[in-house]
Amino acid sequence: MPDFESYCEILRDIWQTRQLTNMGFYHQKFQAALREFLNVSNVELFTNGHMALELSLQAFNFPAGAEVITTPFTFASTTHAIVRNGLTPVFCDINSKNYTIDAAQIENLITEKTCAIMPVHVYGNICDVEEISRLAKKYRLKIIYDAAHTFGEKFNGRSVAEFGDVSCYSFHATKTFHTIEGGCACFHDKNLGVKLYHLKNFGIRDAEHVDGIGANAKMNEFCAAMGLCNLKNVDAGILKRHKVFNRYVENLGGAADLKLNFVQEGLSANYSYFPVLFEEKIRDKIFADLANAGIIARKYFYPLTNEFECFEGRFDVSKTPIAQKISRQVLTLPMYADLPLEVVDKICGIILGRSA
Ligand SMILES: *Cc1c(COP(=O)(O)O)cnc(C)c1O
Repeated sequence: MPDFESYCEILRDIWQTRQLTNMGFYHQKFQAALREFLNVSNVELFTNGHMALELSLQAFNFPAGAEVITTPFTFASTTHAIVRNGLTPVFCDINSKNYTIDAAQIENLITEKTCAIMPVHVYGNICDVEEISRLAKKYRLKIIYDAAHTFGEKFNGRSVAEFGDVSCYSFHATKTFHTIEGGCACFHDKNLGVKLYHLKNFGIRDAEHVDGIGANAKMNEFCAAMGLCNLKNVDAGILKRHKVFNRYVENLGGAADLKLNFVQEGLSANYSYFPVLFEEKIRDKIFADLANAGIIARKYFYPLTNEFECFEGRFDVSKTPIAQKISRQVLTLPMYADLPLEVVDKICGIILGRSA
């Protein structure tokens, strides 16, 4: 949470102006602040990260049924954004090194119908952006990154928001940076910005013209104000997360049967998540042991999106075997800026003492 008084100060101003939503003063101010913070040319704000993804896809006007190459090792949102647009997700397996889409397998999945690639920077690990961009150029495909996990990250000196045609962030309360609920799309093409602006406001061009079948996905003033307040604390929060990360590594780094995430070369990480891979047969036991001690780990991401009940019979999970295996091994451990280091030790004690 931000400093309470600084949020109240903005609330007092909103009470004066009476503008609660519809791209008001704080929406504009937050948009400009984000553009600077993320060091990116264009930012459009949304009610949440999901609508940023869904409307970014819609903005490209792909033909119905066109195929989008993506990963099943992600949050429901990525796949749902594709399907809700009437497009077909084509699932590519992930690489076992950093759990992002296996760029070496993308080309085999490209068909006449492929219109876009929608990769995910899982846990803030960056996809093979160069290879993906090479393929997109060669086959004239759009790239829409789900960058929900990467707030504040730079890769080889570049803001992660710069990659692809669009990079979408989530500012949900559980993320490294939040606006209660919220999200944004970052992009290079100014014309795309006009489309996104329309699509988040019912497709309304002006008072008497509606030329798009838009949604309502406008960020309100209260969320924008929360974002402005929280933006001041992002860097300090990441520093604290780094300490938590180091403490986990000190405790768990030596355990032979665990696989920890590592920070990629060239990445200034935000330490949003602490995923650990266990042997398949003990993952659920450790999850239960932690739960018994009041510690909530997450099976993030399990199940895979291509095995969701809502898609039953539609996709063949055996085509993404690495994702399937990892989803049965992974737990993400508690990770937040104010997590006391003694609690980290306690969590690790439970994990390491599992056979006792
Ligand atoms: C959180 C998240 C989203 C969705 O963001 P919301 O702001 O909750 O709509 C999409 N993709 C990934 C990978 C996420 O973690």
